[in-house]
Amino acid sequence: MSLHPVRPKILGFISEDVSAWLVALLVLLAGGILTGLLAWGTFNQFEQQSRQRFQLLANERYSRIEERFQDQEQRLDSLRRFFANSESVTRAEFDGYAQPLLLRTQAYSFALRVSDAERSAFEQRAREEGLSAFTVRELNEHGELELAARRDEYVAVLYSQTQSRLPAPFGYDLLAQPLRRDALDRADRLGSLVVSQPMHLVGIEPSYARGVLLLAPVSRAGQSRPFGYVMAVISMRQLLADGLPDALHDYLSVRILDLSTHDQHEVLFESTNEAIPGDLSATRLVRMADHDYQVDILPSYAFMQANHSSVGSVIVLGGLLSVLLSALLYVLVSQRQRALRLVQLRTQELHAREQELRGTHGQLRGVLNAATQVAIIATDLRGVISTFNPGAEQMLGYSSADVVGHMTLENLHLPRELSARAAELSVRYGKNIPTCHAMLVEGGEVGGHEAREWTLVRSDGSHLPVNMLATPVLDEQGLWVGHLAICIDITERKRVHEVLAARDVLLKKLSAHVPGGIYQFKMEFDGRFSVNYASDGIREIYELEPDVLLFDAEAIFTRIHPQDVTRVRTSIRTSAESLSPWREEYRVQLPERGLRWVRGEATPEELPGGGVLWHGYISDISDLKRVEEELRALSVTDSLTGIYNRRYFQERLTTEMARVERGGGELSVIMLDIDHFKRINDHYGHAVGDRVLQAVCERIGHRLRRTDVFCRLGGEEFMVLCPDIDAEHAYMLAMELWEGLRSAPVDVVGVVTASFGIASWHPGEGADALLLRADSGVYAAKQNGRDRVERPMN
Ligand code: GH3
Ligand code: MG
Ligand code: MG
Repeated sequence: MSLHPVRPKILGFISEDVSAWLVALLVLLAGGILTGLLAWGTFNQFEQQSRQRFQLLANERYSRIEERFQDQEQRLDSLRRFFANSESVTRAEFDGYAQPLLLRTQAYSFALRVSDAERSAFEQRAREEGLSAFTVRELNEHGELELAARRDEYVAVLYSQTQSRLPAPFGYDLLAQPLRRDALDRADRLGSLVVSQPMHLVGIEPSYARGVLLLAPVSRAGQSRPFGYVMAVISMRQLLADGLPDALHDYLSVRILDLSTHDQHEVLFESTNEAIPGDLSATRLVRMADHDYQVDILPSYAFMQANHSSVGSVIVLGGLLSVLLSALLYVLVSQRQRALRLVQLRTQELHAREQELRGTHGQLRGVLNAATQVAIIATDLRGVISTFNPGAEQMLGYSSADVVGHMTLENLHLPRELSARAAELSVRYGKNIPTCHAMLVEGGEVGGHEAREWTLVRSDGSHLPVNMLATPVLDEQGLWVGHLAICIDITERKRVHEVLAARDVLLKKLSAHVPGGIYQFKMEFDGRFSVNYASDGIREIYELEPDVLLFDAEAIFTRIHPQDVTRVRTSIRTSAESLSPWREEYRVQLPERGLRWVRGEATPEELPGGGVLWHGYISDISDLKRVEEELRALSVTDSLTGIYNRRYFQERLTTEMARVERGGGELSVIMLDIDHFKRINDHYGHAVGDRVLQAVCERIGHRLRRTDVFCRLGGEEFMVLCPDIDAEHAYMLAMELWEGLRSAPVDVVGVVTASFGIASWHPGEGADALLLRADSGVYAAKQNGRDRVERPMN
């Protein structure tokens, strides 16, 4: 497979070689430019909207101001007409008319023109109408009203309706103050409504005191000069701020300049909220009566707040998006580049693997060819042979060309073996298994995937026993494409097997004819015992099945007599340690045959792994033991009398003396010699003498304890060994024996007597000394007339 080097383009247009950083930077730059454009557009739109909105608000405010100015003019004109059309207007009528007009107007007043001559009468009349202490007044330098100085003429406030809680400035002479006088003059001159210069209003709360007077002359028909004036006292703050949002929430900042004074434009009204200077502003002239006012409108801080631009958000969001997008692209591009590098790497690896596979394939072919001792045969699904290696050629005598594509695996098998196996498999699986599959179908036996023995037929017709392993061959998708059979020639193995089997039989037969059992016994490096081999003879020795021993060697020790088992184990270990031959005689307690003696002999051999292996033989020696016992008994028994002989006496004496010397205690001996025995012999014959000896032994033995040892020293001399008996008790026993003997006559010869000597062991005394004393006792008894017991000497 050839791999064309493809230079991929990332995301369709970015070359693979372009650095991810560069891509991210370009995207960030593009994002920045786009964000800038968007911000610019947004800003322009915001500006436009703000301007429109401001213009709308300003127009509305201008209309409202104009409307309010006109409203003031109309209401004052109506009051003027009320006066002009009435003969006379009483205070009550004025109050009644002016009261409802008090809307956004601090006060409505009427001032009457009075000459100095009429002043007293005028004051008097006013006081009579209810205005107690009414006088014509003027403002002093402290801004307080006081009695007016005398002048030619006065225009004094007569009626007044006010919103203010302060007392109305009744009697205040308007001519006394220049600004008011100027307004009155203009009214006279123009004969119509005039507005005063901005001024400090009298009788109004200080917070509303800044304002103007709107004046209208009142004259009667035919009179050129007005007889009085109606006035609206207007506080600009009230007029302009009433009904509008408070300063904090008003979007507009309004300033009204009075333009009537030429030298300087006086500020008539100015909003208390902060104006924000800038592009947004509006100026318009508004007229009230004879005055033009310049109304300047600027946006307030509240307007700016309510119309804040979203440019900042656009920049932040755009910037953020650009950064995110560039980061995303960086990640994408760098990941893609990594992935592409990985693909390149994997492709190279694949290439290398392909080469490797080619190599392996070649090697495999080489192995197939080199395996001359193994037949490797592959078939397709129909069983037709597709591979037949040189090993198969050599083993079966066919050439690969003759077999491949022409023969099946079945053709190579012995037909009767195949049919037998097919029949067996058919029975096992309950369905028909064709012979061509008999060698492929798993038998379901234990170790089903194991190789199985078959007989193949060579090209010359001879038979070849083989061990064949048949496995299915699967392709990469796991589909079954054929079979692989690997056959090993087992002719030699079979031969060796048969030889070994024959040897086994021989061993079995031999061991069956050997009394006892032969075995292989093993001690592992950790001290555990096991039996490798046990012949059938072992069954009789231990009354255990040889097969059981192969699993459980410890069962042997359960059969061994408890008193011998420790000795046996110890000797086995000693043999293992010194690698010396093991030989032991011990008792076994068998369920059926009871107590038996056995003898084991084995030769150890050290194993490479650290254990020891014995090859041994065990036989039943119970009969031998019995004979041994009998011989032993015979060797210590006097044949004539049946009591112990001198040898036994010597042995026992040595043992007993060792005992008392080791642990203390008593030991006595009683010696007796038949009196004049020679005469019996001489008189009755030797045979009678023998019977007398037997009779004497019977009578003496009859009276002894079980612990006493009765021996014939020789001739007609006897010895009784008495363990645990002191001299006194020995004497008493001897007396008893003496009495017993002489009181029971023996057939034919009558009473037989004997002479007794006694000796008790002294610490430190030897056996010879002890016996000599006893012998001396007998001698003394003989000397003293026989038939007596000589007291022991100390
Ligand atoms: P004394 O009273 O002094 O012991 O006299 P005695 O005759 O018993 O002593 P002596 O030692 O002179 O004789 C012992 C005899 O015992 C001599 C021997 O022939 C006889 N004798 C020894 N052994 C046997 C035996 O096995 N059978 C018989 N029938 N006689 C034996
Ligand atoms: Mg004697
Ligand atoms: Mg004697």
